[in-house]
Amino acid sequence: MGVDCKYVNTSVPEELIQIAEKEKRIILTRRRNFPTGTHEFFVVVDDIPFNQAVEVVKKFKIDPLENAFTRCLNCNVELKQISPEEVRGKVPSYISKKHKEFKMCPSCGKIYWRGTHQKNMLKILMEIRKSASES
Ligand SMILES: [Zn+2]
Repeated sequence: MGVDCKYVNTSVPEELIQIAEKEKRIILTRRRNFPTGTHEFFVVVDDIPFNQAVEVVKKFKIDPLENAFTRCLNCNVELKQISPEEVRGKVPSYISKKHKEFKMCPSCGKIYWRGTHQKNMLKILMEIRKSASES
């Protein structure tokens, strides 16, 4: 969805709170007894990832499509547009011939294009947006 987010694997709420306050982030947690304070947090209730995404999209009024596919899935860094010439040798030649638009992560170098995977993701994002507007 292109939302700036960070995954922190810890069972210590204070660690999350410290990071969230330092980086001005909102904490998403499954922990129902998450400690309250000056930090902002949201408890995700559903067990199913799709429904969890709907919960978050509704709560924060996110349009899942507005900034979709603008960040690296690995690094959370904003992607940069690169030309088909620049991807030559970095992706299979049938990909660089078939597609005109490419984006690259300036951090890890991963190259993205509108392939089948992105089409499938787009379909899921559209379903998330639809579910969030209906419920
Ligand atoms: Zn990356």
